[in-house]
Amino acid sequence: MSPQRLPEQIVPFKLARQRRLLQGVLKLDTMARLSGLLADKNGDVDVNLQFDIDAQGISYMSGHLKTQVSLVCQRCMEPVVVSLESEVAVGFVTSEERVLAMPDVYEPYLLMDESVVLSELIEDELIMAIPIVAAHPQQSCQPWFEKQQEALSDVEEKMPAKKNPFAVLASLKRDS
Ligand SMILES: [Zn+2]
Repeated sequence: MSPQRLPEQIVPFKLARQRRLLQGVLKLDTMARLSGLLADKNGDVDVNLQFDIDAQGISYMSGHLKTQVSLVCQRCMEPVVVSLESEVAVGFVTSEERVLAMPDVYEPYLLMDESVVLSELIEDELIMAIPIVAAHPQQSCQPWFEKQQEALSDVEEKMPAKKNPFAVLASLKRDS
């Protein structure tokens, strides 16, 4: 089965009524705010979102988003690839009061219009999933590791060579 083409605009309430499943791939570079945070804009997001109406009559979408993004390592300033996985549970509402009444299991999404741009909805979720500080694991943060090694060898060079105590003893014996 070839992946379904994702619609650009969606009408969440309609998709919920139809109990639609949206599955497909979205390019990272179509999301300007998100790709502005990335060291590399190339890549895809796997999208898997089920729309439905729950027993309380709330129209929601749930599912997951998965991607790999390239961020800047805060230790060495080189790119670091981070897996982003976001579990989504969004309840759609049309008024502020409904936002407050939304059960905790959903993240409320206030629809200003009947339709919404799907990539913007997905972008918001992914931005929330990005770690605040990205970094390589310390052992594989090469430039950082190299800098530590350099600093260490600098210190060793500046330190006067320690005399081997046995050599000192030997020279004492020789002198006596
Ligand atoms: Zn690093």
